[in-house]
Amino acid sequence: MIGLGISGCSAARLLAESGYTVTCFESESYIGGSLFEEVRPNGIRVQSFGPQVFHTDSEAVFQFIKRFGAFFPYNHRVYLSIQNKMVPLPLNANSLQMIFGNKQADTLLARISSAFPGIKRVSVDRLMNSHDSKLLDLGRFMLENILTRDINRKDDNSFVPADDSFSNDAYVDIGNDDCYYTDSIQAMPMQGFMSILEHMIDHQAISVFLNTNALSRISIHQDNTTVLFDGVPFKGPIIYTPSLDKLFHYCYGSLPYRKGRISFQDIRTDFQNDCAVILTPKNKEVIRITESKYMTLQDIDGHTSLMYEAPYVSASKGNGEPFEPVINEESKKMYEKYEELAKACPSIHLLGRMACYRNQSISDSIEQAIDVVSRL
Ligand SMILES: Cc1cc2nc3c(=O)[nH]c(=O)nc-3n(C[C@H](O)[C@H](O)[C@H](O)COP(=O)(O)OP(=O)(O)OC[C@H]3O[C@@H](n4cnc5c(N)ncnc54)[C@H](O)[C@@H]3O)c2cc1C
Repeated sequence: MIGLGISGCSAARLLAESGYTVTCFESESYIGGSLFEEVRPNGIRVQSFGPQVFHTDSEAVFQFIKRFGAFFPYNHRVYLSIQNKMVPLPLNANSLQMIFGNKQADTLLARISSAFPGIKRVSVDRLMNSHDSKLLDLGRFMLENILTRDINRKDDNSFVPADDSFSNDAYVDIGNDDCYYTDSIQAMPMQGFMSILEHMIDHQAISVFLNTNALSRISIHQDNTTVLFDGVPFKGPIIYTPSLDKLFHYCYGSLPYRKGRISFQDIRTDFQNDCAVILTPKNKEVIRITESKYMTLQDIDGHTSLMYEAPYVSASKGNGEPFEPVINEESKKMYEKYEELAKACPSIHLLGRMACYRNQSISDSIEQAIDVVSRL
């Protein structure tokens, strides 16, 4: 198992329970990947790489993750900072009233309902393709004021971000639903994600090597099909979760990724903001502020911690560990060439957000791990 984020930890556990002996290599001094958490001096647990919420429509995925720790029901709330106001995001009836006034909001809501009957959340893609000039204007307003960041789209003709943590920014809810996600199960782990992952890999058939760059132990033989482990051909399954370009020494170039820059501030007050996340898309220094205490249910009076995310910067070979694939036609083509090289090595199995070069949620990662392991 190469890499111990949620994908690697889930697959390691499933393999161990299927009777495999699993050896895991993680290049960092900690497990967790993008789900890594740390505890601030004031005791508040924060997610080091950005806010992450567990949400799924899959009962099977929830049953799996719940085996490793208790969860509490959690409805994630995000506000947009706009025109000196804080309005619910995705925009809903309340947000439209606060931004445009009651009369204009009522007109917009009526027009949305008549143009898209039966749809509760209407995407900016639909608004931008509408023949109603008022809805087209609303779509443009959202592009100019909300979707300003350099983030992945579902495809070239879509304005809806593919990335889980920003995807719902691009919708209008025609009611007053102010929950960010719409999945039937939305929850957070009582003791945090790290505790869940530690329990996952706590199995007698799993051994873990931290601070170990797997590529110092594993290489591809010059026949391009055999994987060598410490120089000796290895026939067992190797599940690979980091970015694929480095496995093949960047032979087709470096896949583009983004990474975030995060800073924290501890404040002596119970709560500083009115909800877990505030989006500030027009700000050039900070795009998102997260107050972790809303997401951890920790009972710590008189203290809170804020997480500030700077606009994402590009990350590739030699430029730190990335977390978000920059998906476009060019990068997809480059990735496909690497994927062909991986397919030629029967013992390599790709898993997770980095290795598969796509955006996926925590739930998707677990679902994919179940699938990959079941096919071995
Ligand atoms: C800012 C942000 C917010 C998000 N918000 C949400 C959310 O709210 N809800 C949700 O469901 N999903 C969210 N996601 C997505 C979710 O976090 C990811 O899909 C998931 O954590 C990916 O896990 P992974 O194991 O595939 O990859 P990673 O977590 O990236 O794990 C890969 C691991 O491989 C290790 N590695 C790299 N190179 C090597 C090497 N050479 N040798 C050994 N190990 C190596 C890395 O150190 C890392 O631990 C968010 C993601 C981000 C970045």
